[in-house]
Parts: sequence; structure tokens; C-alpha cells
Amino acid sequence: MPNTQALPHYPPPLPGAQLEELKTHAVDWALAHGLVVRAPTPAGADSSVPAVTHAPVALFPSPFPRRCFEQALQLQPLFNQLVDTIARDHGFLTEVMDSLAKVDDFTGRLYDIYKRVHEEGVSQPISLGLHRSDYLLHVPQDSTAEPIIQQVELNTIASSFSSLSHLTHDLHKFLAKRTRFFNHESLPSPDITLDALPDNVSLHSIAKGIGKAWEHYNVPESVAVMVVQPGERNAFDQRWIEYQLFETYNVRLLRLSMAEILDQGKLVGNDKRLMINNLEVAVVYFRAGYAPTDFPSPKEWDARLFIERSNAIKCPNIAYHLVGTKKVQQILAKPGLVERFVEKQSDADLLRQSFTGLYELDDSPAGHEAAKLALEHPERFVMKPQREGGGNNIYGEDIPGALSKMSVTERNAYILMDLIRPPPLTNIMVRHGAIIKGEVVSELGIYGIWLSRDDEVYLNENGGHLLRTKAANSNEGGVAAGFAVLDSPLLP
Ligand code: ADP
Ligand code: MG
Ligand code: MG
Repeated sequence: MPNTQALPHYPPPLPGAQLEELKTHAVDWALAHGLVVRAPTPAGADSSVPAVTHAPVALFPSPFPRRCFEQALQLQPLFNQLVDTIARDHGFLTEVMDSLAKVDDFTGRLYDIYKRVHEEGVSQPISLGLHRSDYLLHVPQDSTAEPIIQQVELNTIASSFSSLSHLTHDLHKFLAKRTRFFNHESLPSPDITLDALPDNVSLHSIAKGIGKAWEHYNVPESVAVMVVQPGERNAFDQRWIEYQLFETYNVRLLRLSMAEILDQGKLVGNDKRLMINNLEVAVVYFRAGYAPTDFPSPKEWDARLFIERSNAIKCPNIAYHLVGTKKVQQILAKPGLVERFVEKQSDADLLRQSFTGLYELDDSPAGHEAAKLALEHPERFVMKPQREGGGNNIYGEDIPGALSKMSVTERNAYILMDLIRPPPLTNIMVRHGAIIKGEVVSELGIYGIWLSRDDEVYLNENGGHLLRTKAANSNEGGVAAGFAVLDSPLLP
């Protein structure tokens, strides 16, 4: 089994000089192959001069139990289907969002767009889902049980790092071959081989989703739009999608901010075709619009509504976006709810096995009970608001202080979740060219690709994987947020 006991000397204990050499190989390979992010501009420097730095990476792939990896793959088509089914259940969404809108202004405004477009009539029947379901391994405290996977969250908007994740896989393959670190005398070679690094289609899968959606839109010369945040540092992860789309599907992609789309776009004809500078837009792919900071003025909200009203295929459409809220995740964990949306009991059971304890913090008896439990045993929980992008959660010892300052209404904007406890491993991370060694934990993400028109499903696939690794003592896990590094799983 690929845990610390079974791989006692993993990663191989390289002497300092060899470790430096390996790091130099990693950094230069990353720079040479586009495994990069925009470098922060130092104060006073000219921001118009382009500069990049290597993406933060783990030097060695991190062991991950094969059984758990395969289970996550098996779950993905079920989650893709589940998102679509829920998104089309107007009654369910209305019930959940009516009460959430009262306590969370941001989700409330998204829901306003949903309601407006629902009343007006949804003009585009094709749905494109490019999701990512994230998992941590869990071992109960003081237990020697085998780890299981538990879902952290399901992202339905702007799931990032698909391109850089693929490149990290290639980096680890290169390093293993070039420096032969798998052959190190301390490792139980030949047990570890390059076959233990599973192939990763994540460089192609997002482009495939957009490309196939474009084909179904079926207007030659139409284009795709990526909605981006001004000043995005993770721009190259996004550019790789653009290049794949162009090379494989011959589709041009425009990178535009929400405000630019409103300035340059118009809706044409009864079918509300989205035209931007006389180019018809087949697909709008959002890599922005998930955080309140993406809406600095009413203009961005107007833009989001404008896009949603159009006939372009939206990824995500507003219903998919709402299904990705933490509130929906929490409600699904209630008895009978998954079963309401999933036909086969065995599928519902599989999905449920990946859920950890999830609790509402509302004004109901159950909500008060959960709040009480969180005050008594904060170390067992994490509190999550309806936010995306990392850095928003409240953990363990911070919970009582936070809870005591909140009204019941404010509390209700959060969900409570059991803390997942991944078994720590040792690895070496490289950030800004510096080596950071220590105990780490990894979060596995599986991309999901979905394309459908009403009941007809065109694509329901795994879209490859992402492994993010962070220091074991850090609560949060985002790469862009500065907590984690890109990694790839080693399945001995
Ligand atoms: P976001 O949408 O902002 O990414 P997440 O739900 O993924 O929100 O939470 C951010 C990070 O917090 C995760 O990447 C993970 O490292 C940590 N985290 C979230 N939920 C849990 C949990 N139940 N147990 C342990 N860690 C968690
Ligand atoms: Mg998220
Ligand atoms: Mg997350």
C-alpha cells in the first residue's frame, strides 16, 4: 500500500547537491514547457514588461492509494449526471435558493439572474459542464484503518489547473527518467516504475468539452469566449486550453472581461445570438464570475445577466453555477436527497460513500444542534461560506469565536462540515525556486466533462486529474491562493 509505512524512504533521501540539481531540472523544465504563472510585479516595476515564474510544484509525485484514485474516477460520471439532474429541477433549486438568498447576498444575486432567465425562457437547450470534484483521503483519528476518499467539494465553475496539472505529470515523468530517482537504493525498486504515474488527459479535456459544444452549436466561423479576471496570474493554464481548442477544433477563443463583453457585445435576432464585434459567440466559458470581487460594479452584474440571456452555450449556465454551492452539497447529504436525483440505488450508495458529515447552521432544531456541537467540539469541524477560490473557511479552534459573533441569519450563510483528516506524507515542494521540505497532505481533483441537450447526453466523461499538495499543518489548499503546490499521484 502506498502509505508512509509501506514506502519508508519515500521520497528518496538525496544528498544536498543532488537535491539542488533535481530542483534546477524541475524549475528549468517548467519554464521551458509552459508550466508557468505570471510573475508578480515588484513594487515600482513596469507591469507592461512580461515576466513569468515556474508554477509551484512538488519535486516528487506523492503516493496515493490506487483503490481510492480509481474510486474517484468511477464517481465522476455520476457527479456529472447529478449536476445536470439537479440543475433541471426547478422546484428543488427554487426551494433551496429562496432561503439561501435571504442570508447570502452574492448567491442571491446569482439566483436573481436564474429567476429572470427562467421567466423569460431559457434560450439555449445545450448544457456544457466542466466540473472538478475534489477529495481528501481520510483516516479516523487514532485509527490504523485503510484511508478512504471523502469529497471536499464539487466545483461547477472555473475549475482551474487542468493544463498545468498535465504538465506536472510530464515534469515528474521527465525527472524520474532523467535523474532516475525511482532507482534510488532506499526505494523498494523495481516496485516503483513510471507506470505508477497514471496518464492524465487534463490538457485536452477542457478543450474537448468546449470544442464539442462548439460543434453542436453548429455555426461555422463562430468563436468561443473565455471570461477572465483582469490581471489573472494563472493565465497560461488558460492559454493552453485556448491553443488546444485552436489546434484540435480550429476554434478561435477570445479572452474578455465581463465588462468588455457588455461593452462590445449585442444580442441579435429573436433567438438572441451573442455577437461580439460582429463575431457570433458559440460558447462562453467562465474563468471569472465565481467571487464577489469579480463584480466590482453593477456593470459586471449586467454583463452576467446579458450573457445568460443569450443563445450562447454557457459553461456554466446559471443553474449549474448554483448547483455548485456548498449549500447544495450539504442538502444532498440529507437522507433521501441523493436518492431523489439518482435512478440506481447502487449509484446513490457510491456517491454517498464519498460524503463526510455535512450540517446546516440554520434556525431549525437541527441547525441549533449543529451549532452547539461545533461550539463543544470545534476541532472536529470546518465552517464554510458560499464562496469559491480558497481562503474563506473557518477551522477548528477559530469556530467558537466566529460563531459567537454571528446572528442566526449570518450563521445560516455557512454550512458545517466534518474535518477530513488525511494521513500525512513527506515530500519536497518548490516555490519561487526555493525548496520547502516537510509533512504534506494531498487533495485529489477529478475533472468531469459533460455535454447534453435536454435528455440527450453527448459527453459524460472523466477529464483527467489534479493533485494539489500542501503543508500538513496548513488548513487551506488552493494553489492560486498560495497554500498548495501542483503535484501528481504515484499509484504504486
Ligand atoms: P473553495 O471552493 O474555496 O476551494 P473548499 O471547500 O475547497 O473551498 O475549501 C478550501 C480548502 O479547505 C480545501 O482545498 C481543503 O484544503 C480545505 N478543506 C475544505 N473542507 C475541508 C474538510 N471538510 N476537511 C478538511 N479540509 C477541508
Ligand atoms: Mg470551490
Ligand atoms: Mg476547493
